[in-house]
Amino acid sequence: MKTTPEDAAARRAVPPVICYPTETLPQPDLPLYRAALVGAEVVATHVAPPREACAFEVPAGHFFRIVSSEGPQVGDLNLWNAVDLSERFYSGKTRALHGTHVTTGERLWSSFPALRPMATIVEDDLHWYGIDDFGGSVHDVIGTRCDPYTGNLLAGTQYHHCCHSNLIRALSESRGLTVEEAERHVHDVLNVFMCTGFTRDTGQYFMKASPVRPGDALTFFAEIDLLGALSACPGGDCSAEHSSDTAACHPLNVEVLKPEEGALGDWRSPPVNGYDRSHGTGGR
Ligand SMILES: [Zn+2]
Repeated sequence: MKTTPEDAAARRAVPPVICYPTETLPQPDLPLYRAALVGAEVVATHVAPPREACAFEVPAGHFFRIVSSEGPQVGDLNLWNAVDLSERFYSGKTRALHGTHVTTGERLWSSFPALRPMATIVEDDLHWYGIDDFGGSVHDVIGTRCDPYTGNLLAGTQYHHCCHSNLIRALSESRGLTVEEAERHVHDVLNVFMCTGFTRDTGQYFMKASPVRPGDALTFFAEIDLLGALSACPGGDCSAEHSSDTAACHPLNVEVLKPEEGALGDWRSPPVNGYDRSHGTGGR
């Protein structure tokens, strides 16, 4: 085994470079979206019951709002292109572009080859939280989703109401897919209202009680036609444990809002990514 090099301290002292500077990232017209939100009316309401999920459709140019209704509760969100489920939320690239947690003005990006904004966060009632002394913050794109496989791996359990399973059932019912078909489409989530981070000493993923309270909401603008699914996580506020029926759980509401006619001016749904997809083959 190699010993620590003499210049170890110097190597560690090299300052970091931001992987993806976002100066050239296409920016949303937030003032336009916010003005449109003011006159928007709720056209549909869905409820994710505790330890269950709901599916919902949001046409491009509408808004959707996830609301804490009865008590502190974390939600696991999946998003798909409503007309092509192979285009779906890409948590890893969203993290690379915006950081570990997202808030107002940041966007949820879709998978390759589309790589375009699916939704833009227009209002975040937890924007005040910032980053706490533990390195924790809210609305992360660092977790995956609680699932029965990891529970089985770590504890030998057969638990059926993890977010992964809840999202599968919601998608299966909404699109008439078998459980096996639906499972292929479920992906890493946006952890709505969840407070998470990595421990400074061991780098481990941690969670702590969500600061969300009834009435708090996270509001998105749909950049493309969306199918969404939201699971009210069995972890409740995620202050203690998940993947069981132990935690106190509450429902989450999803409101779909339609802006007034003409409120978006000449806004257009973003096109798919401009890369030519030849991957060095010359187009063969
Ligand atoms: Zn969960």
